Amino acid sequence: MAERDRYPKLEEILEKSLQRKPLSASEITYLLGLTEGNKISRVFQTAQYLRAKHFGNKVFLYGFVYFSTYCRNNCTFCASRASNKLALRYRKSQSEVLEAASLLAESGVHLIDLTMGEDPFYCRSEGEHDSLLTLIYKVKTETGLPLMVSPGVVTKDVLAEFVRAGVDWYACYQETHNRQLFAYLRPEQNFDTRLSGKILAKQLGILIEEGILTGVGESLSDIALSMEVIRALGVQQARVMSFVPQIGTPMCDRKSPSRLRELMTIAVLRLLFPDRLIPASLDVDGLDLLQERLEAGANVITSLIPPRLGLSGVSQPSLGIDEGSRTVPGVAPLLNEMGMEAAAPQDYSLWIYAEKSALARRSANYEVAA
Ligand code: SF4
Repeated sequence: MAERDRYPKLEEILEKSLQRKPLSASEITYLLGLTEGNKISRVFQTAQYLRAKHFGNKVFLYGFVYFSTYCRNNCTFCASRASNKLALRYRKSQSEVLEAASLLAESGVHLIDLTMGEDPFYCRSEGEHDSLLTLIYKVKTETGLPLMVSPGVVTKDVLAEFVRAGVDWYACYQETHNRQLFAYLRPEQNFDTRLSGKILAKQLGILIEEGILTGVGESLSDIALSMEVIRALGVQQARVMSFVPQIGTPMCDRKSPSRLRELMTIAVLRLLFPDRLIPASLDVDGLDLLQERLEAGANVITSLIPPRLGLSGVSQPSLGIDEGSRTVPGVAPLLNEMGMEAAAPQDYSLWIYAEKSALARRSANYEVAA
């Protein structure tokens, strides 16, 4: 029996996504809620088809430098929350950050992601991020690679300074777009301020990434809502990660969710945004399930961390780091087995260039229209 006859509803939705027709919220929740193996396989096959159509068998590799685990905020899910007395705290010096970034660049990553908590050292007063800007400038100069920064919420002036310092990407995850859940996950933080930072960054010509966290009390409708916001933001990259309980936090007793939800979310993101970048993060399970994340349609491997420099992941502070599995050589055998490979550096630079040029054109059109 043809797939279309066996699963008419599913095949109709998949056909719509192949034709780049928008899916409704109920179609998205239907896909996210699938539990039957054959149907899930069809979703993954379609996601892989779409990824191959836009990116061939190439993946992009992101080096991750979590250079300060200090933070003024108190997110309930995060080990780095200010009040966590059990948190592993460090703030790497400029030379340590440069060493890590250089090692990552030499290993062949396509991008360096500089991540920190909202560290009071770097955010001494509103709009003042001088030492962060110096660090960014030096990493950019030293490595010559595209740069993503994940510094938390910053002002428009700081975003404009990021542009001058050569920042290519601004990542600042909402984690959920359900405002009530957001208020629980990110107490005393402003939903709209966080969201509008991404809009401002994009207006300034910076590529943006939005993120969803699964297993924190969200419903399938909440994930569908996140996808709608991601569409409205027009992000260049969308990531989903599974919650991992962190010692010393209010959510430490909550179980990590089944990875099926994350995998289905990756696949549905691919169906909805076939030419956007969608990461498979090593920060949840290390190398385990990397294959499944790629088979769900991811085309970026994130959270590659140089071993033995005392650098931490976000969800998994140490998993696979010092063993060297979260490195370019560490992921290469799996890519090879899967018939995939790391993209050439110029492929990534060209992708970035095309996306930034499109942003600049849109901004110029906007100015003309205004
Ligand atoms: S998620 Fe980010 S902002 Fe929240 S406590 Fe952790 S490091 Fe700070």
